[in-house]
Amino acid sequence: MSKHKKNGLLVVISSPSGGGKTTVIHRIIEMDDRRFTYSVSMTTREKRKGEVDGRDYFFVTKTEFEEYIRRGDLVEYEQVHDWYYGTPREFLLKSLQAGLIVLLDIDVYGALNIRQMFGEKFLSIFLKPPNKAVLMQRLLDRGSETREQINKRMKRVEKELQMSGRFDHIVINDRLEDTVEKVIEIILSKYNRNK
Ligand code: ADP
Ligand code: 5GP
Repeated sequence: MSKHKKNGLLVVISSPSGGGKTTVIHRIIEMDDRRFTYSVSMTTREKRKGEVDGRDYFFVTKTEFEEYIRRGDLVEYEQVHDWYYGTPREFLLKSLQAGLIVLLDIDVYGALNIRQMFGEKFLSIFLKPPNKAVLMQRLLDRGSETREQINKRMKRVEKELQMSGRFDHIVINDRLEDTVEKVIEIILSKYNRNK
């Protein structure tokens, strides 16, 4: 048996809504590289078309979510927009113990909240849209929210962009292929250093 201690890595990928987190994470998971896994968050928001319970999110009621909070089963949680979102504790800790790279798609406040808990095992990457007009257009093209919901999300953008300086890395999400390549390079560089 190997005497080397396996060191997992927790990688938070954040951005304003529509910044490309889901797309980039899907691309990485689709590579089928067994070192990577994805932490499925829990939420009280309604399921969007095409989303699958247990794959995209664990969709629960507000009462169920509050029960999770009460039991301490979430590493962190936030109220984002009108809904609760949180990171289940058990899967995250087990994956890190197994030496995996765990990808988290969480908002900027959640990201900064868990940094202290994980020390050297933590890496944060902020995906920045090329500019606000492109971000708005991507949200409109995605077509998963009403115009009113998009406006609400756009109101948070300035604050979220200001917080980008507190992340370990900022990657401008212009051409998708370049973004994915850069994100993987940053992650593996840290993972291999930690080994
Ligand atoms: P988030 O998960 O951060 O809210 P998404 O991954 O859903 O963002 O991306 C928002 C929309 O922008 C999606 O429709 C996605 O296909 C598109 N998108 C993401 N990255 C790029 C990119 N680099 N170039 C063009 N479109 C992109
Ligand atoms: P969406 O509704 O578009 O899927 O996500 C809205 C926001 O909630 C995004 O910024 C996303 O990163 C964030 N989010 C998703 N899961 C979590 C989580 O577990 N914790 C926190 N803090 N934010 C999350």
